[in-house]
Amino acid sequence: MRVRGQVRVRGEVVSGYPEVPPEALRGEVRRITVVGEDVLHRRCRDVTEDEFGTPELARLIDDMFAAMWVAAGVGLAANQIGVDLQAFVWDCHDEDGVRHVGHILNPVLDDLPPGARRLVEGTEGCLSVPGPYMELARPDTAVVRGRDLDGRPLVVEGRGYFARCLQHESDHLGGGLYIDRLAARGRRAALRRMEERKAEVFAERAARAEELAALR
Ligand code: ZN
Repeated sequence: MRVRGQVRVRGEVVSGYPEVPPEALRGEVRRITVVGEDVLHRRCRDVTEDEFGTPELARLIDDMFAAMWVAAGVGLAANQIGVDLQAFVWDCHDEDGVRHVGHILNPVLDDLPPGARRLVEGTEGCLSVPGPYMELARPDTAVVRGRDLDGRPLVVEGRGYFARCLQHESDHLGGGLYIDRLAARGRRAALRRMEERKAEVFAERAARAEELAALR
């Protein structure tokens, strides 16, 4: 059962989680890559067995949380801070009022059985396409299987907006952007709107970076 105000960290119900995640407070704020940069348009490499449990991997997750917080995003993939690795993070409220927080490595999205696939329209944006939000239909449920920082198996399930987030971030790690799923006209409109609005978005991020620095 889902309860408003509930928090789930990597799928597990917890009693609460700080408004500004500790990962974000520890992380280094790194620049978010923008559509057109090579690292966003190819599949990221898998995390290897010897990388699990290392401080480098933990630092990467912290840096991703910091970038996501500064950009006021609900999800972020490693290639969005220029790192070629199968990893994404999230801090995302769904329509039931549940806040989902976590990270996953080497994630694989389950194929939905045909009967379970229900498409819903929704508004979607991307930190790497700063500015526009576009309508895009996606399945309303998603299950992602992968590993946590220490290599433990992890299964994360989402519905509604969080399902959208899990699918959007999985797309990133395959080298795809949500605008690649739009018709050509929608894609062009999104890129046009990005050019008009990106300076404003970058200014907002700079202000939030100062806010985060002040909290440390
Ligand atoms: Zn994105």
